[in-house]
Amino acid sequence: MTTISSNLQAVLARVDRARREHGRASGAVRLLAVSKTWPAADVREAALAGQRAFGENYVQEGVAKVAELADLGLEWHFIGPLQSNKTRVVAEHFDWVHSIDRLKIAERLAEQRPATLPPLSVCLQVNVSGEATKSGVAPDAVEDLARRVAALPGLRLRGLMAIPAPAADFAAQRAPFRRLREIYDQLRAGGLPLDTLSMGMSHDLEAAIAEGATLVRVGTAIFGERNYA
Ligand SMILES: *Cc1c(COP(=O)(O)O)cnc(C)c1O
Repeated sequence: MTTISSNLQAVLARVDRARREHGRASGAVRLLAVSKTWPAADVREAALAGQRAFGENYVQEGVAKVAELADLGLEWHFIGPLQSNKTRVVAEHFDWVHSIDRLKIAERLAEQRPATLPPLSVCLQVNVSGEATKSGVAPDAVEDLARRVAALPGLRLRGLMAIPAPAADFAAQRAPFRRLREIYDQLRAGGLPLDTLSMGMSHDLEAAIAEGATLVRVGTAIFGERNYA
């Protein structure tokens, strides 16, 4: 087994252990492999080991990998900050966007999504850590944005995403995830047909699964430490 494939098996085992420990149903938590900064060859290796969904943060880098690996029929998620002048390539090449935090970006993606493709699945990024992070819509503005995004053609609103500030222990990690899940539950109770709670990364996926994550986004634990140099 290669390092990537053995890392992948270890992460899947962590996900499954946390899922069972917290009484979540089999198949309730999907793994998104975050391949930012890693070459297409590494994605191919993970795909050969059975991984189907991959996450990218940078538009140009992501689109290049989508094109290079088109033969594999993978599912591509854009999870990074998105500027309005870069929405078109994302609308044309990705299956999901997790980082919607204002209406203008959603409107552009809706308008630019090719009619030949299925609707783009989207999540709203919520700032559940207050001052600690700048991206994401404020919790008290989520419902209004969700209703507006849900009404746009070409998009399918799937749920919510968050990147909480790092926390020292398990209980502290759980708190912002619980906050996100409460907002998600409120939106669903209000009639929005959401099915995705995108939360948890390499260092805190167990806490996210304990609080109801349906998709964890994991990079380092699969591909190794990133080098941005
Ligand atoms: C990089 C990144 C991840 C993966 O983080 P790791 O700590 O490497 O698992 C997940 N989500 C987002 C939005 C990211 O930018």
